[in-house]
Amino acid sequence: MSEQSARSDNTLHGAVSAAGVPAGAIRLPAVHLILSDAGCEPLLAAYGRVQTLDAARALLAELRAMLLAAREGGETAAAVTGAPDTSIPSLLAMLAARLQEQNASPLRPVFNLTGTVLHTNLGRALLPDAAVQAVVDSMRWPMNLEWDIDTGKRGDRDNLIEELLLELTGAEAATIVNNNAAAVLLMLNTVALGKEVIVSRGELVEIGGAFRIPDVMTRAGAVLREVGATNRTHLKDYDEAAGPQTALMMKVHTSNYAITGFTKSIELDELAPLSKKHNIPLAVDLGSGTLVDLEQYGLPHETTVRETIEGGADLVTFSGDKLLGGPQCGIIVGRKDLIAQIKKNPLKRALRVGKLTLAALEPVLALYRAPDLLPERLTTLKLLTRPAADMRAQAQAILPQLQAALGAGYEVTDAAMFSQIGSGALPVDQLPSHGLVVRPAAAGRVSNALGVLEQRLRALPLPVIGRVAQDALWLDLRCLQDYQQQRFIEQLGLLTA
Ligand SMILES: *Cc1c(COP(=O)(O)O)cnc(C)c1O
Repeated sequence: MSEQSARSDNTLHGAVSAAGVPAGAIRLPAVHLILSDAGCEPLLAAYGRVQTLDAARALLAELRAMLLAAREGGETAAAVTGAPDTSIPSLLAMLAARLQEQNASPLRPVFNLTGTVLHTNLGRALLPDAAVQAVVDSMRWPMNLEWDIDTGKRGDRDNLIEELLLELTGAEAATIVNNNAAAVLLMLNTVALGKEVIVSRGELVEIGGAFRIPDVMTRAGAVLREVGATNRTHLKDYDEAAGPQTALMMKVHTSNYAITGFTKSIELDELAPLSKKHNIPLAVDLGSGTLVDLEQYGLPHETTVRETIEGGADLVTFSGDKLLGGPQCGIIVGRKDLIAQIKKNPLKRALRVGKLTLAALEPVLALYRAPDLLPERLTTLKLLTRPAADMRAQAQAILPQLQAALGAGYEVTDAAMFSQIGSGALPVDQLPSHGLVVRPAAAGRVSNALGVLEQRLRALPLPVIGRVAQDALWLDLRCLQDYQQQRFIEQLGLLTA
């Protein structure tokens, strides 16, 4: 049918001189002539016959509609579209562009110059090479994901990393799921289904819009028992709320905010003995969950998973792709009997991780056995500990090239600035950094010059994402790694508009 219809209307008749399209017959080549042209061979080889044919038909249909509109609409349409070149080489070029565009992945690498190292919208932690290689292998080879090589029997995927997690956290048992939100959901659903969970009103956090402790609690089938006030919660608040209806006491890391002023919160050293007195398990949602004391690298202190376990928590949940620096996942460590219950919950099967995640996580965890080498090896820590002098040298090297590419409409300077850890880790701590600041030049100022600049940077093959503040675009160079810098500079040439 289509060959026929393509042939039957491949010629348009009519005078369209007013529209700038030549009068008389307008010929569009038949689709089979385009596909059988030698110039189409690379397209057929790359995209296959079916897709190429569909794209060619769609292209011809659009051109036909455009020419008709130009003929009927007179000058207006022609002014917009002009007269297209409908020779076969020209059509093949249009076809190639169309196929390339429709096959471009919507998930693309970008430059994160926002100054936020663990940027949730940009995919959080970047993985070290050891993890990248392990993921590649796991995709190309069958793996002993649930196969015990020693016994030749069925195994448990959690066992692949459990021992390492116990070594690094001091916990009795561990399990792993899709992300920390899943970890919290699974934990609550297992331990507190139909029962109460006591949480301080100061810790009812919302993470990135969709994750709110009260909502997760409801979905998990648990009943939230809020205690205390937003700014102050006392031990007696927990004590008075505890009863036979209570399944769990829970502390939630106030990841993305800090309550300051007249405040009081109850820490583990007080809450753990109380939970033991009532014989109620104590859970801590650590959020970022770091495995080492970050102070040894000159970073602010963040309570570690080990400290939380040693402090008396029965269950601890944390993310794999925040400060830990691994792939997206959620880890639950804690008491053996509770972890065993969690693993038996049918929801665990729905929330489990795949082999790519486990392949990536294991080498990342293994890096923690050499904490002294961690800032060199763990990408996240490497970025967080980069001295501002590094970024300053980078800024000075890039500045002239960015200025040349942007032209006289913008003024580029280098400046000290502050990076953030991101993903709710240590929200009030800032890391001294350095980068480039782009301001619209005073003379010849165009309206919305910053918006235009951002748009031009986003339109590059590798989009550049900065941060707008104080009437300028700030490009923090902390996350521009050595191996990315050349790519960054190379594509600046395309900016020249
Ligand atoms: C980030 C965070 C979560 C959610 O973790 P994801 O890994 O993003 O699912 C839950 N609780 C706290 C306290 C967090 O900081």
